[in-house]
Amino acid sequence: MKSNLNSIEQLRSLDLKATSIRVDLLSILSESEKAISYSKIQDSLHDFDRITLYRTINTFLVKGIIHKALIEDNETFYALCGHNCTSQGHSHRHIHFKCKKCEQVSCVQTNHSIDIEVPGHSIDRFEIEAVGTCDSCLK
Ligand SMILES: [Zn+2]
Ligand SMILES: [Zn+2]
Ligand SMILES: [Zn+2]
Repeated sequence: MKSNLNSIEQLRSLDLKATSIRVDLLSILSESEKAISYSKIQDSLHDFDRITLYRTINTFLVKGIIHKALIEDNETFYALCGHNCTSQGHSHRHIHFKCKKCEQVSCVQTNHSIDIEVPGHSIDRFEIEAVGTCDSCLK
């Protein structure tokens, strides 16, 4: 699979050993345009143990490969980061959109760049969650 090869390369460029769970997890997230829930990740992996998966997700979060797109009561959604995220930190300028019809979560760019300033504070990142109807459900 092409995405597997890409994933292996990406992991190596980040000095991460291309273990099979890392390659699988990265490929699953790369192949999806939307954010993916933890339970869907579990369903997509054939063979894994929970602790390894938990650690792998954590490594990806710390390395700036993925971010949490949405946290709900029993579910966390993860999405791939862009080039602005590194192990130094995440830098996002998009919002997280949850569709109330198909219940998919996606990272969406807004028409205007979002900048929030708080006097006397320095903001590295902020989270904006929007709920509504996505473009495919509106058609
Ligand atoms: Zn990020
Ligand atoms: Zn939808
Ligand atoms: Zn996002």
